[in-house]
Amino acid sequence: MSAYLSKRLLTLKPYTPGEQPTDKKYIKLNTNESPFPPSPKVAEAINREAVEDLRLYSDPDLKALTGTIASTLGVPRECVFCGNGSDEVLCFSFLAWGSEGAAYPDISYGFYPVFAGLCGIKSSVFPLSPDFQINLEDYDGFKGLIVFANPNAPTGLFVEVEKIRTLAENNPQSVIIVDEAYVDFGAESALPLIFDYKNVVVVRTFSKSRQLAGARLGFALADSELINDLNRVKFSFNPYNVNRLTAIAGEQAMLDADYFESCRAKIISTRERLKCELSRLGFAFTDSTANFVFASHPGISGRRLYEALKDRRILVRHFPAERIDNYVRITIGTEAETDVLISALSDILKEAGL
Ligand code: PMP
Repeated sequence: MSAYLSKRLLTLKPYTPGEQPTDKKYIKLNTNESPFPPSPKVAEAINREAVEDLRLYSDPDLKALTGTIASTLGVPRECVFCGNGSDEVLCFSFLAWGSEGAAYPDISYGFYPVFAGLCGIKSSVFPLSPDFQINLEDYDGFKGLIVFANPNAPTGLFVEVEKIRTLAENNPQSVIIVDEAYVDFGAESALPLIFDYKNVVVVRTFSKSRQLAGARLGFALADSELINDLNRVKFSFNPYNVNRLTAIAGEQAMLDADYFESCRAKIISTRERLKCELSRLGFAFTDSTANFVFASHPGISGRRLYEALKDRRILVRHFPAERIDNYVRITIGTEAETDVLISALSDILKEAGL
């Protein structure tokens, strides 16, 4: 770093994204992207006219996109905010509501502490239970922003919405962010709570269940006053935060309900098949409702498993962190990719004499 870097940022530890190789020689099961392409309607809509329109800035109010999200999900348009990936929505949330501090689980999305550090916000970290469950009662009485992923990452476990309701009810002093990046793969959404509580924000992404990780699009759903707060941050940073092509892609992805349903059904069935195969091979894993599984094997370390799979051109994610460094997180791929994965895991265990 340079001698000019702001003092505040000296101790900031930036987020480490999963590997993103530029060639296609790996089966990529490391960053929870979709193994399927976006809806064919997306490619049709990104046409010559859309490209020519790139000379113009995007609509700062994203009326068409927020309108489509609103009507698809059954919320008023004033309750929708879009960002450049849900990462941006989350960062804006820390800026908007984190002045009294931010609380999140010790094992969760690794960007929460980074956002807190970047925004100069004090973090309070609450440990998951030994079986990796989030105890929402721990957060009762906390004065600042509360944020957790549901289902959680990298465990894939979810907290029942009724428990989130109790948290919202008991803690009107806090904004509660429910990061639902993975909710479409089988968990229950907290969306109905936004109509009952003025302190609940549901954050979603187009990166996982709508196949648009590379387009960068996420959104928040909340009471319109909270949405106004996010707009206050956005219009103090970048009024054109979602680019024209991404807005078009997002609209089409939202509108193509059949494609969305068929992709998520395939992911869910492949995930359940993978769980059976992992059991057969002697793995332990959480009962994930996300588009990944979080697995460990009693005979081989997480690090070794990650490396052995990489040697076989399969990328998974290993987190060298306390309590979870014996695990790997494996994104659900296509059926064919899953076959290759299972036979690689079998070989690795055989070679290790297991
Ligand atoms: N929340 C969670 C829990 C995630 O795992 C991710 C993606 N890694 C995100 C948010 C961010 O997703 P995106 O910025 O691609 O919308």
